Amino acid sequence: MAYSAEVVRRARRRLEEQKEQKRAETASKLQQVYAELPHIRELDAQLRKTMILAAQAVFTQGDEGKAAMEEAKKANLALQKQRKAAIDARFGPEFLDESEICDRCGGTGYLGSQMCNCLMELCRQEQKKELSLLNCGEGDFEQFKLEYYPAQTDSRYGASPRTIMQKNLELSKRFVRNFGAGNLLFVGGTGLGKTYMSACIARSVADSGHSVAYEPAGRLFAKLERNRFNPSAETEEEMRRLQDCDLLIVDDLGTELPGNFVTAALYGLLNDRLLAGKPMVISTNLNIDEIAQRYSPQIASRLQGHFKVLPFVGEDIRVMKNRGIVF
Ligand SMILES: [Zn+2]
Repeated sequence: MAYSAEVVRRARRRLEEQKEQKRAETASKLQQVYAELPHIRELDAQLRKTMILAAQAVFTQGDEGKAAMEEAKKANLALQKQRKAAIDARFGPEFLDESEICDRCGGTGYLGSQMCNCLMELCRQEQKKELSLLNCGEGDFEQFKLEYYPAQTDSRYGASPRTIMQKNLELSKRFVRNFGAGNLLFVGGTGLGKTYMSACIARSVADSGHSVAYEPAGRLFAKLERNRFNPSAETEEEMRRLQDCDLLIVDDLGTELPGNFVTAALYGLLNDRLLAGKPMVISTNLNIDEIAQRYSPQIASRLQGHFKVLPFVGEDIRVMKNRGIVF
């Protein structure tokens, strides 16, 4: 569950805001209670006194201390009961909720070193927001339009592009359902839906509470390069995120020609993730031979050995849209 430090920061900020908001609401309702039931203020003063007595009892030795503690507890519970009955009778039992925002962690977001579900849920939401900002959160399998792909058999493939894409859609959905098993390589020209399919996967995987890093290849190379030639705590944190996130998506591999060092860094990243069993989806307009030539034979061999290759075929959807053939 390696969410980026930035996602966790934003999620924690939201948890703080929610706590603050609840505190403010409770305080304002309590003022309303005091205004209409002035004796509650007096009860609260007495309640505070019982807590002071209990605290003092802790430092009193022997039976005397125990007895004082018992008495303070009893008085405290009786006052609380009286207070609740008076408030419930006037405002109803739902009105004044003075509990913490989360019962499990008391609103800290953590149970020991483990992240509590309340903070985890906020991370999940922030992760989805981040993907939307990258224009990668809008993909929806249900909206994937197979009618964009010709239904006539294409002799080059021995099947129609639509049949092939139908299968790709099924395999992509299965990748999400069985998330954690295997990697996908989308191969095909531009405008055939590779990026959209990646976005569908990103969104569904993020929806199920996993961390996703979506990187157009050009930006990924820039990051690897910065970490090599201008390293900082920030670039190292980013490297860790690329390494540790549950799903790494690299979009449009093949559009850039990086230097040897960056190629080696890319190989290192792919290899480390493969060894750790962390899934990836890579899309490219190159075939395996071209990848070997452009990057390195090692990268090509890793992709060939560990990725399920999905061919994207058909006609450029953007061109068809421009021509008014599809809408
Ligand atoms: Zn919690």
